Amino acid sequence: MRIIGGLCILALTIFIHSCREQTERTQVSKDQIQREEIPLIVEPALIYGIPEDSAIVSKGRIRRNQFLATIMEQNGVDGETIYQVNQKAVGVIDLRRIKSGKEYVIYRKGDSASSAKVLVYKDNPIDEYVFYLGDSLWVDHLQNPVDTVWRTLSGTIKSSLYMTILELKANPELVHKLSEIYAWEIDFFHLDMNDQFKIIYDELFVNGNSVGIHRIHAAEFTHRNSPFQAYHYPIENEEDYFDGDGESLRKTFLKAPLRYSRISSRYSGRRFHPVLKRYKSHRGTDYAAPTGTPIYSVGDGVITEARYAKYNGNYVKIRHNSVYSTQYLHMSKIKKGIRPGKVVKQGEVIGYVGSTGLANGPHCCFRFWKNGYQVDHQREKIPPTKPVSEEKIDEFYAYIKPIKRKLRKIDYPEDKIFLDTILPELASTTNPVIRSSRP
Ligand SMILES: [Zn+2]
Repeated sequence: MRIIGGLCILALTIFIHSCREQTERTQVSKDQIQREEIPLIVEPALIYGIPEDSAIVSKGRIRRNQFLATIMEQNGVDGETIYQVNQKAVGVIDLRRIKSGKEYVIYRKGDSASSAKVLVYKDNPIDEYVFYLGDSLWVDHLQNPVDTVWRTLSGTIKSSLYMTILELKANPELVHKLSEIYAWEIDFFHLDMNDQFKIIYDELFVNGNSVGIHRIHAAEFTHRNSPFQAYHYPIENEEDYFDGDGESLRKTFLKAPLRYSRISSRYSGRRFHPVLKRYKSHRGTDYAAPTGTPIYSVGDGVITEARYAKYNGNYVKIRHNSVYSTQYLHMSKIKKGIRPGKVVKQGEVIGYVGSTGLANGPHCCFRFWKNGYQVDHQREKIPPTKPVSEEKIDEFYAYIKPIKRKLRKIDYPEDKIFLDTILPELASTTNPVIRSSRP
C-alpha cells in the first residue's frame, strides 16, 4: 500500500513539475513570437485615401440654395475639377437633391491652405456621398451599416407617457408609435398614474448611434388595471396590430358624415374660393346636400366644441381619441343636446346641413384632424379593421407565439425602474459601396 502511495506521490510530483515546465516553455515561445511580430513601421490608417495623420478635417452644413460646387470652389477646388467631378456624379447622386441643413465634411491633405481633396455629403445617418477631388476624380455612394437591435422596455406612468419614456432614456419616437397603435383603446392624454407598459421593439443604429425606431413588435399597456396587448402582424400587404386573439386594434370611421350627398369640393392645398373670390387652401371636404339633411358623427367620441363662429357658422367638433378629431361646419342647426362634454356614438346625428358662416350654398364642410393637424381624410390610410381571417389565424398564432412568450417574461417594474435589455437576436447588414464612378 505504502509503495503504491509513494509511487502515486512521485508520479504526481513529476506530473506537476512537467506541467510547470510546459507552461514556462510556452510563455517563452509566445514572447519570442510577439517580439518577432512587432512591425517596425506602422502604416497610418487611410481616411478616404488620405493618411489619417495628415488629414485636415473641417465640417459645415449646406446653406439654403447652396450648391456642392460652390462649397468646392470655396475650398480651393478649380473650376475644371468641379466640372469633371460633377460629370462623374451622374448616376451616383442627383445633385439637385442636395438639401439645405445637411452636413458636409471637407478633407485636405497636410496643409490647411491646400485645396480640398475629398468632400463628403451626408444625406442622412445612413447614406453618404464621397467626392474624390485629388489626382483621380470619382464619386462613391456609401451606406453605413445599420444594426437592428431588438430591445425591450417597461415602465410605470408617473406623469405622462412622454416624460416616462424620456426618464427611461428611451427614444421619444416610441410615444408617437404607441399612441397610434392604441389610438382606439387608450387615451394617452388621460392616463392614470401607475398605468404600466412594456414594449418589444427594434431600434436602428449606425456606428453605435440610434437613428430611429424601426417598429414596435409587441406591446402591453395596462390601463386602469386592464392589460391591452398589441402584436404587429403583416397581413395582405398591409401592416397592422392585433390583440392576442387576432382582433384588430382599430375601429373604423364612417366614410362620410352624410348618408346621401355628393362631394362638391375636395381637400386641397389651393382652390378658388367661391365666396372670397381668391385662391385659398381648403382643408376640408365639402358634401353638398339640401338644408336640413342630418349630419352624423363619423365615430364614437366626445363633443369638444358646438357653437357659432363667423367663418365656420354653426359647427361641431368631436374628439374621437388622442389622435383623431373631426369637425362639421356650416350647419343650419346644431342638434339639441350636442354640447361640449357630451359623449356621442358613431352614426349619431349631431346637426343639420345649412349654409351658415362663409358658404355659398347648403353643404357640410367636413374636417379631419390628426394629431392636431388637418389632413385629407380621403387620403388618410386607416388600416383594415378586419380581424385576422380564419385561414390565417393559425399562422398568426404561430407568428406571435415566441414574441408573446418574450412579452410575458418582461417584468413590470416595481417603481419606475426600467428594464432595457438587448435581446440576443442581432440582425446586421453591411453594404458599404452602393454606387460608384471610380475609374
Ligand atoms: Zn369646406
